[in-house]
Amino acid sequence: MREILEAIQAGASGDDIGNLPIPESYRAAFVQRDEAGMWEGVASEDKDPRKSLHVGEIPTPELAPDEAYVAVMASAINFNTVWTSIFEPLSTFGFLDRLGKESVWGARHARDFHAVGSDASGVVVKVGSAVRKWKPGDKVTVHCNYVDDQSPSAHDDSMLADNQRIWGFETNYGGLADLALVKANQLMPKPAHLTWEEAACNALCNSTSYRMIVSKHAGALEQGQAVLIWGATGGIGGYAVQYVLNGGGIPVGVVSSPERAELLRAMGCEHVIDRKANGYKFWADEHTQDEKEWRRLGKDIRGLIGRDVDTVFEHPGRSTFGASVFVAARGGKIVTCAATSGYMIEYDNRHLWMKLKSIVSSHFANYKEAWAANQLLAEGKIQPLLSRVYGLDEVGEAARAVHRNETEGKVGVLCLAPEEGLGIDDPAFREQVGEDKITLFRNAG
Ligand code: NAP
Repeated sequence: MREILEAIQAGASGDDIGNLPIPESYRAAFVQRDEAGMWEGVASEDKDPRKSLHVGEIPTPELAPDEAYVAVMASAINFNTVWTSIFEPLSTFGFLDRLGKESVWGARHARDFHAVGSDASGVVVKVGSAVRKWKPGDKVTVHCNYVDDQSPSAHDDSMLADNQRIWGFETNYGGLADLALVKANQLMPKPAHLTWEEAACNALCNSTSYRMIVSKHAGALEQGQAVLIWGATGGIGGYAVQYVLNGGGIPVGVVSSPERAELLRAMGCEHVIDRKANGYKFWADEHTQDEKEWRRLGKDIRGLIGRDVDTVFEHPGRSTFGASVFVAARGGKIVTCAATSGYMIEYDNRHLWMKLKSIVSSHFANYKEAWAANQLLAEGKIQPLLSRVYGLDEVGEAARAVHRNETEGKVGVLCLAPEEGLGIDDPAFREQVGEDKITLFRNAG
């Protein structure tokens, strides 16, 4: 990989990069099949990704005709890597084994290691024989919707494809590595004004929030609509705030500290709720929710914006879902993509049907949506949320920090990039967008 990195740093031509040999093995972050039972009896919050995420050499998989190898300059931590590393809600080796049965190419993924990571920025080093839009030397970011075009179900909204997967979570050979194996239809141009690590941290969360807030497939935000955003300085929440503001909506952001409240205001979100300071206790005990507490949240929202929210951007799950259903306006919607605090959800259905609310499910984004989200980033209309940067060897530490809710926005990971700050190809546009805007979270983290 050293030769490839040197060629990239020297600005070698695409042809020269394409002629370099691909190493037989490369450095990657992975979990091991024989450790899938290691957390038995350990409470979720005590599971430490530093113990289960290993960094070492893995064999390079063969390249399929519709794929590309990407030399990964930087990647990022997503919550799915936390899930993989704590083997919750289940071991991801089951996903790999299922993919392994799909085809000869799928069989490459069913290994005793799972190389993780669902974000990357880097340089294409080799493409398969069927790839027509990308070539060696192209600077790219990678989105994580892993889907082929052979299923009719993939041709309206590819998130509905019957073999849709999340790359680096439900497939092997993900982005937390020096090399990544991706389908050509995961590639997007790297925004030229961003560093490698700034470019790497967006695709998963930015695209998810684009679909949840903007896309007709989920949020379909209209001007003037109010949106309650849980975890508003977190990975997906921080992009959601930007989309609501860009779309002429009114974000009401929920966070859990005065520092996060300040950061949220610095993003332009005027209406802020500190859930810790307000001390909401939506669950009176493990089995009983407290409607009075839902009402208190609703009253606090009305106190800020004078009415109920049209949409709730929901992802904490069990701890908040009952409240989310309650506080949405009559006819409003709860758009959900996750359940960090528990997926067995409980809410009072009377509040849903009597007030004609709807629960809308959303999951990542199709290629078109991911591309649109990437384009907005490239045009400086959406900002990266990079707050911290770790080296690949510290990936366990990085995942642990995200698991413990210690981080704001996104956590970047340097893979081949030897240091931070490299990869900016358009400094003039960077200046135009504004260093302070681009690095708002970096300075807060
Ligand atoms: P993150 O960066 O850790 O942010 C999550 C935020 O949620 C935190 O900043 C925290 O904010 C808030 N939060 C955590 N626990 C909470 C609770 N019990 N009640 C209320 N707020 C809580 O994570 P993320 O990247 O935004 O991801 C959030 C979830 O979405 C994860 O479960 C992830 O797996 C999922 N996800 C799903 C998709 C998809 O495509 N389906 C895509 C991306 C992410 P405060 O403490 O400041 O309130």
